[in-house]
Amino acid sequence: MFNFVRTLVAMRKSLFALLLLMTLPALGQHEYPVDAFRPPLDIPLVLAGTFGELRSNHFHSGLDIKTQQREGLPVYAIGEGTVSRIKISHWGYGKVLYLAHPNGYTSVYAHLQKFSPAIEAYIKKIQYQKQSYEVEVFPDYGELRVEKGEVIAFSGNSGSSSGPHLHFEIRNSISERPTNPLLYGLEVRDATSPSIVEVYAYPLGPDAQANRSKSKIALNFTRQADGTYLADKLHAAGTIGFGVDVYDRQDLAANRNGVFSVRQLVNGTVYSDLDFKDFSFAETRYINTLIDYEHYGKYNKRIQRLFRAPGNRLNIYNTLQNDGKIDIAEGLTYNVELEVRDFAGNTTLLRIPVEGKREPLDEPARDPRTDTYVIASKPNNYDLGVAKVYFPANTFYEDFYIRLEKGQDTVTIHDNSVPAHRNFTLTFDASGYTPEQRRQLFIARLDERLRPSYSSTYKRGATLTTRTRYLGTYTLATDSVAPQVWARNFKENQWLTNYRYLRLHISDDLSGIDHYSARINGEWILMEYEPKSNTLTYNFDDKIADKTQCQLEVVVTDNVGNSTTFSSSFYRK
Ligand SMILES: [Zn+2]
Repeated sequence: MFNFVRTLVAMRKSLFALLLLMTLPALGQHEYPVDAFRPPLDIPLVLAGTFGELRSNHFHSGLDIKTQQREGLPVYAIGEGTVSRIKISHWGYGKVLYLAHPNGYTSVYAHLQKFSPAIEAYIKKIQYQKQSYEVEVFPDYGELRVEKGEVIAFSGNSGSSSGPHLHFEIRNSISERPTNPLLYGLEVRDATSPSIVEVYAYPLGPDAQANRSKSKIALNFTRQADGTYLADKLHAAGTIGFGVDVYDRQDLAANRNGVFSVRQLVNGTVYSDLDFKDFSFAETRYINTLIDYEHYGKYNKRIQRLFRAPGNRLNIYNTLQNDGKIDIAEGLTYNVELEVRDFAGNTTLLRIPVEGKREPLDEPARDPRTDTYVIASKPNNYDLGVAKVYFPANTFYEDFYIRLEKGQDTVTIHDNSVPAHRNFTLTFDASGYTPEQRRQLFIARLDERLRPSYSSTYKRGATLTTRTRYLGTYTLATDSVAPQVWARNFKENQWLTNYRYLRLHISDDLSGIDHYSARINGEWILMEYEPKSNTLTYNFDDKIADKTQCQLEVVVTDNVGNSTTFSSSFYRK
């Protein structure tokens, strides 16, 4: 059944693509219609995030447009089109709308507060049919048609959003590649050049060194009279590379956003050049090979490496000479230039003079060896007593010495200095627990301060299994406390005639909320769940509660199956 539905969806999508192909003039890869679209908001566009910005496990696929710290701003269709997808989820994009345009592009509007009345009615009907707040639908072509400039939604803060804003994308409808929305002529004021926070030199070859070091080193640099930057002379030998921590500020906001392009020249020759016009979702996670992941794990700062590191399969380079690596010969000098550019063309230039010179090392290279060497291209299995860990082939980008430790109900699988591209499997043996105890067990990941967080746990007999992409410490934890549920804006037996909303608090102390359902007089009602504020909200406009005396029953269940039933009655006329 499930496969059948998936096939239908796939068929509909390819039919849709075919229709577009037939009705469209051929689109050049780098021709973007500059005057086709209007802005999605009618306030000046101020950005809290740019396209291609470096994020966790992905490049940012759109613009984050600030909404003046408010929700509820009208969101406009940037062009005529038809709604091709609506999704509502607790995390991720929250409430999101996809609009397919006849010129071959699809615009995406995310973290919405709500949709326009027509679209809201359409999606609520489906939510009531499926008895679920979380839904995803692909309306038929032309079923929900909108005009350019029509209000399609209202901006919000739903899903994984940390403040009110509109996440806005323009994708190629056929390839689904996200493209930089600024390519379409949207205006964002920017007269500020990018900033370079830090620059690092990386000794890469086995006999490479930079400033008496075999590990990466930070370079000092100063601003020159002409506005460019100059680094102190670097002494190096062997194969080296560079990395930069950069950001860009636009006008009217202090947000540190991503830059548009970074170019590296050696003696006038381009060694690496990448920019963010577009990319593919298939490659976005390889950002973990672009940044210095170990540095990121330690300091939570992203250094963009200007050379191609092992496992890097990114296709975002315009030019890549010698993988961006520079072979330094003793006795020669090199002029390395880094050009960092924003979309508006403001450029920051940094020059690094390099002299080929081998020097005594300040300290020997640190020894990374442990008992276990992981060959990334092979599957690897390890038995750690209380738990077994299985890494499928190509879980990792490169071979490395892994640190594995075992304790009482706890295993440590290296640390957050190494990224995993795929999920690996961790299976705990819980045969030391009674079946009753096992019911409340789950696998938790411990953060640096040893606070547990639920890792999606699958139970079978006496084993608990989780699939995860995060290296670190995992333990068996017990959740014996059911979720907490209480009324936020009403009391037992209260008259709620003039109320527009019914609000409840729901939370769980340890494993987290898994699911909930709510009924009035036995009839399922849609309650919107906002996990960031632990709130369930029912909108009386849904008109289920039309009896005078209403009996509300809400059941909330946590991730190990503990559940709480909340009951209350109220009156309305
Ligand atoms: Zn965003």
